[in-house]
Amino acid sequence: MGILDRRDFLKTGLGAGAAVMGASIIGELAAAPPPAPANGAAGAAEAGLPVPEYEVYACKYGGPMVRKVAVVLWNSGWDVDGPFNYYVWVIKAKSGETILVDTGCSPAEGAARKVTEFVSSVDVLARMGVTADTVSKVVITHMHWDHVGNIEAYLKAFPKARFYVQQREFDFCVNNPVVKRKPIAILFDPLASKVVGDLKGSERLVLVQGDYHLAPGVDLSLAPGHTLGLQVVRVNTAKGPAVVGSDCAHVFRGYREDNPSCFIMDMPAWIDSFDKVKAKAPLDLIFPGHDVLMHDGYPKVAEGVTRLV
Ligand SMILES: [Zn+2]
Repeated sequence: MGILDRRDFLKTGLGAGAAVMGASIIGELAAAPPPAPANGAAGAAEAGLPVPEYEVYACKYGGPMVRKVAVVLWNSGWDVDGPFNYYVWVIKAKSGETILVDTGCSPAEGAARKVTEFVSSVDVLARMGVTADTVSKVVITHMHWDHVGNIEAYLKAFPKARFYVQQREFDFCVNNPVVKRKPIAILFDPLASKVVGDLKGSERLVLVQGDYHLAPGVDLSLAPGHTLGLQVVRVNTAKGPAVVGSDCAHVFRGYREDNPSCFIMDMPAWIDSFDKVKAKAPLDLIFPGHDVLMHDGYPKVAEGVTRLV
């Protein structure tokens, strides 16, 4: 297979899958502007209160691009082309509180990697009315270039926000020299990794250790495999639990066919993560990282923005 662009994932438009996840907690690295919930404390505080419902939006900041299907569905379909998009996600409560998931890539990386129809994710968020005052939390699902690359812009655009990164992801990307080796380095953005590394010890960064209760009705789950510390977000919605799965699977078919993408750091862990994620929500409410259907198959609320649930 030759070397693939990381953005090469493809997508094959296909069916839909779903799943969910759960959460818990652990270490935080700082006390913060808005006080961060102590691990587990939020659950106790919420006892007896109704669980809020959220809406989930996909915001396309790049694509469509075309790659071989085998890139996004493990080693199957090397002779078939498929499309894929680049996204960030928005979890919005009726109260207006907004949780962002991932930052997208930087304009420089978007240009260097020739991402088609690239728009800064901050600008896409503005189209649906996301403002600085409404964002206190940004979840980084993993530190690949197309998911954390625009963090510098997010730090400025959302000055009240804390960024939630798994400790394992942080340690690998910031401290492990292996991340600089060619087959792995191609998937990361060293400038963005440095920005995250420099946040250590500040109130802007929360290093999460495993499953974590982020807010009433919103939980993070460690789901390694694609990277060592990928995390997914389980959200309570009007349809019940839904999961923003990011690259745990690149396309809906990945969950339906039990088949991850070719971008693998730990295949056994990835398979375990599939089981974990799929136990958390119905397949049609588990959203993958790059499937064009998230843009093409759901109600459009603004240019590039669709309501998933
Ligand atoms: Zn990825």
